Parts: sequence; C-alpha cells; structure tokens
Amino acid sequence: MGKKRGIKMHQEILFKANKMIEIITASTNSHKINEMNNIAGSSAICKFTAMSRLDNYPENIIEDGNTFKENALIKAKALTEYTDKPIIADDSGLVIDALNGEPGIFSARYHGLESDNEKNRLILELLKDVADKERTARFVCLLAFIDSKRNTHFFEGACEGMISKKIIGGNGFGYDPIFYVSEYKTTMANVAPETKNRISHRALALQNFLEFMKNMVQM
Ligand code: IMP
Repeated sequence: MGKKRGIKMHQEILFKANKMIEIITASTNSHKINEMNNIAGSSAICKFTAMSRLDNYPENIIEDGNTFKENALIKAKALTEYTDKPIIADDSGLVIDALNGEPGIFSARYHGLESDNEKNRLILELLKDVADKERTARFVCLLAFIDSKRNTHFFEGACEGMISKKIIGGNGFGYDPIFYVSEYKTTMANVAPETKNRISHRALALQNFLEFMKNMVQM
C-alpha cells in the first residue's frame, strides 16, 4: 500500500471511531482550513479536510460569480463530481467602504497581486489620503454547505473594523495585518489566534454552521 493511501485509510478509521463527520473543504488554503478546524475544535461534530485528500480534485475552479455567495456555491458544486461526502466552501474577503467595497470578491488577487504583503501595501497607498473615520471596513465570510443528500445551505459572518495606517502583527494571514479591531486596539494579525477564532467573520459563519449541524445530528 502506498504511503498516501495508508494515511487516507488511517484517517477514515479515526473519523469512524470518533463519530466525527468528515467535511471536504473546497480549498487548498491551509490557513483557512486550520482556522476552521480550530474554531470547530471543541464542537467534536465535524472535521474539515482539504480537497487534496481526495484521489482527484478540481485543480482550477473558476470563481466567476458576482458575490461571495455565488463564488462559494461555484466552489462547493465543483467538488460534487469528486466525492459523495458533505462539502463546504468558504468564500471570504475584505470589503472597504472608501474603495466602494473593493477588494471584495477580488480579495485573493486584488489588482492582479497574489502576495499578501504587496496587496496590503497597495491598500495603504490607495487609502493614504483617507481620514481615520472614513477607513471603515469589514471581513465577510460566506459558507456554502452541500450535505450528503446534496441539499445546499448557506451561512454568513461579518467582522467590522478599520483599515490601519501601517502593517502591524505577524499572526493570521491575508489582510489581517491592516485590519484594525477597535475592541482590541490593534490589528487582527496582532491578536492571539484564539481571539481571532472567536471574533472573525469565519468564526461567526462557522458558529452558525455548527449550530445547524448540532440540530441535524440530534434529529
Ligand atoms: P478566497 O480563497 O477566494 O475566499 O479568497 C479570500 C481572500 O480574502 C484571501 O486570499 C485573503 O486575501 C482574504 N481573506 C479571507 N479571509 C481572511 C482572513 O481571515 N484574514 C485576512 N484575509 C482574509
């Protein structure tokens, strides 16, 4: 037996023993999946695994929707050809009021840039003449869940903040170092990971999802 296949079988046995529901996540972003598992950690209902765990998965999903919800659905649906297990897709991003909602659905490759540092520097430059009180923004997360009967459910979360004037902090990922959270008087990249996993857009959307799953399991 190959090493990869051996690991997959071992995971199957663990899931069955724990009675945890395995949910295939339409993402290869390990930051996102780790956060999702840390948030779900104490629920003991489900575990999110990357689509790369499947023998085959879509390498290039074209996210050409006009909203987070449409893109989350596109990503989740793309996996239905590859697995019978429940599927979840997270489409998320940063909405900045002074930029008319951008980067929004273009968050992953804003202005064609992929590096987090370059995107963060660009946003600070675009906002250099914007006054403090006009720097309002929010992180948005849309989850599309396709259950094992192939019904679709959506869950949403948003986290309000401001765009900082410089890059601060080394935790998290993406736009966290420029997202100032008033309650903590610092950026999302400078709060403890446990704090982010309690207050973030992803945490709020996942809490709604986990509540739904608890009710499903009890039925
Ligand atoms: P997606 O993978 O198409 O949903 O792209 C989401 C993009 O939004 C990521 O590449 C990040 O740039 C940004 N993003 C999403 N969630 C977060 C977060 O929790 N912190 C910081 N940036 C995020």
